Amino acid sequence: MAAGQPGEAHGQAHGEMATTPGLACYLTDAVMNASSSTARGLTGLTVRDLEVMLGSRTRALVAAHWIYGPRPWTADIPETLPGIAPQAWIRVRDACTLPSIEVTEQAVAADGTTKLLLTLDGGVIETVMIPAATRSTICVSSQVGCTRSCKFCSTATLGFGRNLRADEIVAQYLIARMLAPVATPATNVVFMGMGEPMDNLDEVLVAVDVLTQAPAPQLGRAQVTVSTSGVLPGMQRFLAESHGSLALSLNGTTDAQRTALMPHNKTWPIAALLQLLRDDQRAHPRRIHFIEYVMFDGINDADDDAARIVELLTGINARLNLIPHNPIGTSLLRASPTPRIEAFHRIVSAAGLRCMVRWPRGQDIAAACGQLARVRSRPAADHVDS
Ligand code: SAH
Repeated sequence: MAAGQPGEAHGQAHGEMATTPGLACYLTDAVMNASSSTARGLTGLTVRDLEVMLGSRTRALVAAHWIYGPRPWTADIPETLPGIAPQAWIRVRDACTLPSIEVTEQAVAADGTTKLLLTLDGGVIETVMIPAATRSTICVSSQVGCTRSCKFCSTATLGFGRNLRADEIVAQYLIARMLAPVATPATNVVFMGMGEPMDNLDEVLVAVDVLTQAPAPQLGRAQVTVSTSGVLPGMQRFLAESHGSLALSLNGTTDAQRTALMPHNKTWPIAALLQLLRDDQRAHPRRIHFIEYVMFDGINDADDDAARIVELLTGINARLNLIPHNPIGTSLLRASPTPRIEAFHRIVSAAGLRCMVRWPRGQDIAAACGQLARVRSRPAADHVDS
């Protein structure tokens, strides 16, 4: 799932998909060389890393402008960069590679929501660009497949491939931001694509640092949100070490409900997850915690659930996002009917909880929450294959 605000679902797709051949052309050029085992991924370097490699902060800032500044994605590291002594830049060229990523497919919904299928060493991932009224959001993957087994998510059916490196995570943003409409630039990133970010935390923390660093890409800290299915040790570390935002996918108001949907709830039950947020809130009173709540017909959408969620979130500066379940495969799970979602929304809002319904977007290109499995979302004619 993804959005400009955490929880905002992928672009609602109405009507026919369009294709954008121009993108495919330059992305064909963007097939990058595989990195050797010792090479460092250029797009995962912080300004501090660059400073160490280049021997001066001024050079590091120049390099960061080139690596992360707005420009079309390129396959090559240039031989020289104006403003950096050639003998210093050669050290970066020798030590680093750009990640090997190829855009193998893209699908565009009528509202502009665009799903990219990216092929990299060891697998295929998806990245989604979601335009909104004033800005666009890039939804990135943190793993090939996923380490968790949520019953309602199509990524879980793929199993786990491998963790992505920080440079591969940041590269998704650098590639997909070029698709954002000029009037609504990509200012937001959500880690709501494939994967469980807390199971790949070292790389995710670096990626958040890079995305939010000055002078570029310099996204706002509140504009980079990492979503978790509730891996408690990872959440503890994330809250202690990162200045990005956290979203917890709660999806149930009792442990029985939640364990049936998300088996690892047995290990880290609801009370423990929310106690962590409550403790963090005491230390950081102004921090906002996003709570994602996928709504399933007859499972977690009763008035009692609405009352319980209000109680559960007491003491947490929470923003609750209600997400109608997006159908996947042969699953018998159904989305709650719209009137039920609206009634639930009314109950929690009346109790003073900040709450929004994230109506699904991009369903027709399988870009909506939980639909990011490696499926061809439409017949080939609707797509641009490179
Ligand atoms: N593993 C992380 C991030 C990826 S899932 C997490 O669980 O948060 C991103 C969001 O999509 C989560 O809030 C998840 O609950 C939601 N989601 C997954 N499958 C869905 C589906 N089929 N319909 C609606 N939302 C779904």
